[in-house]
Amino acid sequence: MISEISDNFYRITLPMPFRLRHVHAYALVDGKNIALFDTGMIVPGALEKLEADLETIGYSTESISDIYLTHVHTDHCGMAGILQERSKAHLHLSEVSQQVHSYFQRVEELIGQARIFFTKHGVPPRDVEAIVEEIEDVSSRIPKFEVQTFLQDHEIRHFGSRSFEVIFTPGHVAGHVCFFFREERLLLAGDHILPYIPPSLSPNIYDEVFQPLPSYLESLAVIEKMPIDTVYPGHGNSFSGMKERIREIRAHHELKKEALRQVLTAQPKTTFEVCSDVIGDAAANWDDWEKFMALNDTYVYLQALKHEGAIQETLLGSVLRYAAV
Ligand SMILES: [Zn+2]
Repeated sequence: MISEISDNFYRITLPMPFRLRHVHAYALVDGKNIALFDTGMIVPGALEKLEADLETIGYSTESISDIYLTHVHTDHCGMAGILQERSKAHLHLSEVSQQVHSYFQRVEELIGQARIFFTKHGVPPRDVEAIVEEIEDVSSRIPKFEVQTFLQDHEIRHFGSRSFEVIFTPGHVAGHVCFFFREERLLLAGDHILPYIPPSLSPNIYDEVFQPLPSYLESLAVIEKMPIDTVYPGHGNSFSGMKERIREIRAHHELKKEALRQVLTAQPKTTFEVCSDVIGDAAANWDDWEKFMALNDTYVYLQALKHEGAIQETLLGSVLRYAAV
């Protein structure tokens, strides 16, 4: 489905085979050219769908001259490789996203790093291997592509007669950016802010200094101050009332973080053990991806509590453990 969100500016809804069921790409049109913001996922029918939607406005995928990526998760960049092959489009992303992309291209190394990281957080070998399978699956959906330019924070980019500002919004993932169209007072938000669910946060397994929750909250504060009337997210309907939505998301994280603090005792526990305590019997019905997400969540809140000095981290052997102070 394609719909016009502003003059010569379109939202294209593409299929996604899991969870949210769909992902949006956005197309800005000027003369013969299209700037595409995120690409959708490479799944059967997605490319044909994009082609058919562009055809209804008199364009084709070969018209794509530029691809801008909010981040390099598979649902946002999956078709970047094939589109670039077809149209020779120039591709733009943040330098940190480029780093994340290069990790996915060296999958053996990524898996090695994941084994070290999750073992250090107390994940038993069988569960580490389940996580490795998830990472292999995710990596296989990240295409190769050439990067032409790195986006800079608060940089103004021009496309034909339009201009937009790049806003760095690390949190959902390191390297995430949003695109702000001042004249239209609209934000292409990627997965920084979504209407129905709080965006997932996950560790950067190469960089444990990266604090997902504090970074995310800071990134929310950045967009909160901007004159934005309408948010166009990567998933779900566009919405106004961004400030209210930001308050809801903040409250959600505060609640989850506090709930986690409650289960911590003086007895040190690993991230995996804390996660098991929190999800309890519910885990029996969960698939490996859901368990992986719950583990990531636990990591994110434990690290935030540690950052605040609210809990204590100790290294026992080669495993990290956390206790109430
Ligand atoms: Zn997404």
